[in-house]
Amino acid sequence: MSLKTRILGLAATLIIVAATASWLAYRELSEDIIERWGRQVAEIQVRYDSARLLQSLEREIGLARQMASSSTLIQWAQNPDDPDLKTQAIRQMESFRSNFRDNSYFVALRHNGHYYYNNAANEYAGDQYRYTLDANKPDDAWFFQLIDEGRDFHLNVNPDVELGVTKLWIDVLMRNEQGEIVGMVGTGLNLDDFLQDIVDIGQDGITTLFVDYTGAIQLYRDRNYIDFASIIKPEGQKNTVDLLFDDSQDKQQILGMLQMLKQREGRAGAVESGFVTVDGRKHLAGVAYLPTIGWFEITLLDLNTLVPPSYLWPLVAVFLVSLLISLVLFHLIIQSRILRPVVALEGAVKRLREGNFNLPYLPKPDNEIGRLVDHFETMANRVQLNTRDLEHQVAHRTEELHRLARIDALTGLKNRRGLDEDLDAEIERARRDNQSFGLIWLDIDHFKAINDKSGHQAGDEILCRVALWLKANVRPYDHPGRWGGDEFVVLLSPCDPVVLEQISSRIRLAVEQESLKTGMPVTVSIGGYLCQPGENSDTILRQADRALYTAKEQGRNRVCITRSDETTVSPGA
Ligand code: GH3
Ligand code: MG
Repeated sequence: MSLKTRILGLAATLIIVAATASWLAYRELSEDIIERWGRQVAEIQVRYDSARLLQSLEREIGLARQMASSSTLIQWAQNPDDPDLKTQAIRQMESFRSNFRDNSYFVALRHNGHYYYNNAANEYAGDQYRYTLDANKPDDAWFFQLIDEGRDFHLNVNPDVELGVTKLWIDVLMRNEQGEIVGMVGTGLNLDDFLQDIVDIGQDGITTLFVDYTGAIQLYRDRNYIDFASIIKPEGQKNTVDLLFDDSQDKQQILGMLQMLKQREGRAGAVESGFVTVDGRKHLAGVAYLPTIGWFEITLLDLNTLVPPSYLWPLVAVFLVSLLISLVLFHLIIQSRILRPVVALEGAVKRLREGNFNLPYLPKPDNEIGRLVDHFETMANRVQLNTRDLEHQVAHRTEELHRLARIDALTGLKNRRGLDEDLDAEIERARRDNQSFGLIWLDIDHFKAINDKSGHQAGDEILCRVALWLKANVRPYDHPGRWGGDEFVVLLSPCDPVVLEQISSRIRLAVEQESLKTGMPVTVSIGGYLCQPGENSDTILRQADRALYTAKEQGRNRVCITRSDETTVSPGA
């Protein structure tokens, strides 16, 4: 896997891990924030709804209490058959009617069970007596129940079958000076208007309901859930708030909250909240107790509606786009600052390894890699210079070795290999120029004896001297060399018979005379041959050898020249 793929893979993995961690943390945090916010909203909403309900009811309740404490009415209730008292009472009732919000009232007398009522349309003017309450009729049971319980004030949602209306009734007991219950007064509020104003407020995601002291639903947007005439129903048959919840834990939780608030009845404004599931959706329930009316207010907030998850989508989109841009930027930076220079450097190193010093352009970012490229270029230049120097030295040494391989170490003259090459070159030149050249073969006389007598070192000295004299007595362009042992060869080019003989004799004479001066006299025998164009080295050497042999045979210290017709002449000692 390339470095680029690895770095990008690693970066993507790190970003995804970091993103996932951030996302989880964000979700935890946002849920916490939403929950806190929801609880506050629930509390505010509960207080707001309670205030609205109480605002609507308090005036009516006050009026009803005022009506219940009217001495005219109390008196009449104790003497319901007194026509004067009745007339005054009716007048009194009618004056309250115009003050009630619904412009309706009821008065029920305990003494005879008579029930008086008039409405906004003043439909029963002069005929306010409507019917007589019957303790045996279930529809009238509320009256007798409330009197039995002795509850001075009660709110009740109840259809009045006789009147054909369903109302939220405000019932207040009427007591005489002795505290005996003499009747009940109150007013009714149109349930539909009330639901519309207080409960069915049309705010998406917020549901408000009111339940009574026992948890029976009193005001709720869905009338089917309302527990009408709760007062006369036995426990267990009421539509209580837990009907709204499917989960038994939620039921327990809500009932627990009601219980807790009941216990803290005195503390105003206390609100309890908790999460519940309604219709399969998670809601935050806020509950408050309204001591004035003895009811609970419950507000359900559907957090998914109030703060839908889709609100977070732009955030997710921003996050994803940022992630993408970060990756692209990261890729571009890594590409230009690291990968491209590294790849170029790798190519350059490869070229250098193959011995190619022609390096391509290398990008140099302003970082460690740029400095590495700089060092590499300096190093490559130095390697190039060193290599050239080395090549030069090797060539020089090779040349030297080549030369040395053709030099005789003792005498400094060419050795047999050098002479062989020179001879081949001369043969070639003679053939090309159609010219003859001379070859002299020289052997020291009785050299073995000199060695034996004076030692090998002395023999070496004589070899060196002979070489010097030989060199001194040939022309600058001739090629003298040591053939091996005490034998020397000289190539004379160009040459003719006269020159061959002259130089051969001169050498012989020089050795003889010069050696005398050294105190170690020595002589040489020389065989010469004038080589003709087209002759090969074997022939030439054989002919010269023959001439030398003849010189030795004829007594040594002399020159013998072999001609091409194979006759040998001796110019003399
Ligand atoms: P001749 O007159 O027949 O040439 O007699 P010679 O004794 O010279 O016989 P030959 O040429 O056969 O002997 C050559 C001798 O040269 C034999 C060997 O001991 C001696 N020799 C060969 N190479 C060297 C050398 O490098 N140094 C010394 N000191 N002696 C050498
Ligand atoms: Mg010899």
